[in-house]
Amino acid sequence: MSEQKAYASQDSRMLIQDKLHTSRDSEDPTAWLRETEIVSHDFPYLANLIADSFEEWIDGLEALPFAKSWDWCVLNFEGRYFANIADQQERWRHQWEQAAAASLLSGATSSVQLTVQGQDMSFFTIPLITRVDKEIFAFLGCAMPTQQYLMGGRDTAEAISLQYRTIFYHKFEHIFVTDLASVHQHAERESNRRSLLFQIVQRMHDNIDVNAVLTEVIDSISAMYPGARLELFMSQDHRSTHPQVKPLPFQMSSDDVCARAFKDGRVALNTNTEDQHIVEIGLPLGGKQGVYGVFHMVMDNSIFMDVDLRFLSMVADTAGTAFENAKLYERSNQLIRELRMSNELTQRLNQSLRLGDIFQFAFEELLEMFGADYCCILHMNEEKGGLEVIACNHSSLQNEILEVGQGLGGKVYTTGESLIMSNYIDNPNTTSRLMNATGSQSLIATPLSVGGEVRGAIMLAHRDAHYFSYDNYRLLQAMAGHIGLAVGNARLHAEVRRLANRDSLTGLYARHYLDEEIKERQSTDFCGCLIVVDIDQFKMVNDTYGHQKGDKILKEVSEIVKSSIRQGDIAARWGGEELSVYLPLMGVEQAVNVAERIRKRVMNETEPNVTVSCGIAEWSWMDERVSVESLFYRADMALYKAKNNGRNQVIVDTKENGSGVKGLPHK
Ligand code: GH3
Ligand code: MG
Ligand code: MG
Repeated sequence: MSEQKAYASQDSRMLIQDKLHTSRDSEDPTAWLRETEIVSHDFPYLANLIADSFEEWIDGLEALPFAKSWDWCVLNFEGRYFANIADQQERWRHQWEQAAAASLLSGATSSVQLTVQGQDMSFFTIPLITRVDKEIFAFLGCAMPTQQYLMGGRDTAEAISLQYRTIFYHKFEHIFVTDLASVHQHAERESNRRSLLFQIVQRMHDNIDVNAVLTEVIDSISAMYPGARLELFMSQDHRSTHPQVKPLPFQMSSDDVCARAFKDGRVALNTNTEDQHIVEIGLPLGGKQGVYGVFHMVMDNSIFMDVDLRFLSMVADTAGTAFENAKLYERSNQLIRELRMSNELTQRLNQSLRLGDIFQFAFEELLEMFGADYCCILHMNEEKGGLEVIACNHSSLQNEILEVGQGLGGKVYTTGESLIMSNYIDNPNTTSRLMNATGSQSLIATPLSVGGEVRGAIMLAHRDAHYFSYDNYRLLQAMAGHIGLAVGNARLHAEVRRLANRDSLTGLYARHYLDEEIKERQSTDFCGCLIVVDIDQFKMVNDTYGHQKGDKILKEVSEIVKSSIRQGDIAARWGGEELSVYLPLMGVEQAVNVAERIRKRVMNETEPNVTVSCGIAEWSWMDERVSVESLFYRADMALYKAKNNGRNQVIVDTKENGSGVKGLPHK
């Protein structure tokens, strides 16, 4: 209503507020309302109120038949006739307007201006004045037979007009109060919203947990709009247990509010729904780094206002920022956790350079790190021609050899690509021994690369479907990198050790290795034999055929020695063209057999032909003095004897042949 604008203006509202306060203590709490006034600049807007009041007043005249029989009209503050009322009285319009004009001209507010037309009818207007300022805001026009007019009709009309003023003010007060109440209500609603928004913002930012933020915003909006239907569609791999949080559908038509809100990152509204009474709203949940999801709200059109849209988008904005903060916090926590775990794993892996230890540590750490039910580490074993199960916590697979290219592990090994599987039964075309044997549904697997070459595969399985996240998958790849490095180091270390313990020309063990091994054996075994093998007249061979040929013969003799002994026996190059063999837990008779076999084979198989002489010494736990040095000394003495006896023979160190020396030699 346009007239409300004026009299409910700021000034008058403040006036009313003042009245409200001052009248609080007075006897009549509504006294302020009776003093509520319309002012001259309200007048142009009073048309409806004046007309409504007039209709009501005319209806009230039913009880006064004589008054009812008179013609009445109402004129505005300028004395103009309201054409919209009582059309049948249009005929006296001119007379009434004349009377009102005369009244305005005279400036009198209480007197009645009279126009008498002929003898029959009299016309006059009664000014209606405001309560406080006594200004004319309208006129009541009346036409009655002149006879009645002269007999007091005029006074009666004037008295009746008071009733009109009461009705008018009554209506005005009603509108005023209604307007005031609605202003109050509006202000109260606004203030409620503000404090609610403040609370929501505070609560949301108090939460550093992603799901708690979402629950908070859903609960807050639902509490504010109890009739509305609310869902939150989340993109990416965000999982929530909240029943109102769902994954964003892949297929959405471009006019869908959710699709629009998600794409534009702005509030989208649809009022043209099939049901005209509802409105559909899409609110993006976004932060600085992007849009994470979209709220979908369906609510009653009649209670929805622009202010709601502003408010809802403010809530959604806040939720987006809070969600992003919580997500960043979660992410940084995750990174810290991953760093810590990776640190622990590498520390543990570095504790040992033995391949077996490294696989065992990796296996234990991975199981714990990912909370997996099963871990299986496969490592290529060329000798056995397949992927060997190095570590697995399911007994049926332990030490098994799996075919390359078969099963999931074999596939990861051959393709060199990682794998994530959330539900094994959904993949009927793949078979996996690990998944079948353990009854697992989820799997993450990654190749194990050592020095840029795929050497195996690491598999983690869980009985629950959808157990592993994408982050888990990524983390396993990172961890496999660390494990690969540790495996590479261990292999290098083993190779260095092997090289350090070997003689490069003959491929036999080096002297220091033999020394250590004998020492070790002497602390655990109860007996053993040492054979020293020396090529006869080797200097001459060199002189005759040259050093290169000499080297070749040395290699041939070494091969003969290697192939003449048991697996646990240790053959070494003792120095120059002198070789030695240690035979653990072997008696002297058998040692003689071995030495004889070597001597004969060298005699028969070398080209150019050479011979060897052998000295043998035995030790047993009953000896007074057991040491590597004395053993070698005694074997050397026996060899010396063999040389002296004419070479190409085997001599055993005994007391009888004079070389059995107890006690250390003085060199
Ligand atoms: P015998 O043992 O029968 O008494 O005579 P011998 O000629 O073998 O005597 P000796 O042990 O004194 O000489 C060892 C010779 O072996 C000296 C050296 O020329 C040769 N020799 C030592 N190491 C190598 C080697 O690595 N390659 C070659 N070609 N010759 C070597
Ligand atoms: Mg020699
Ligand atoms: Mg020699």
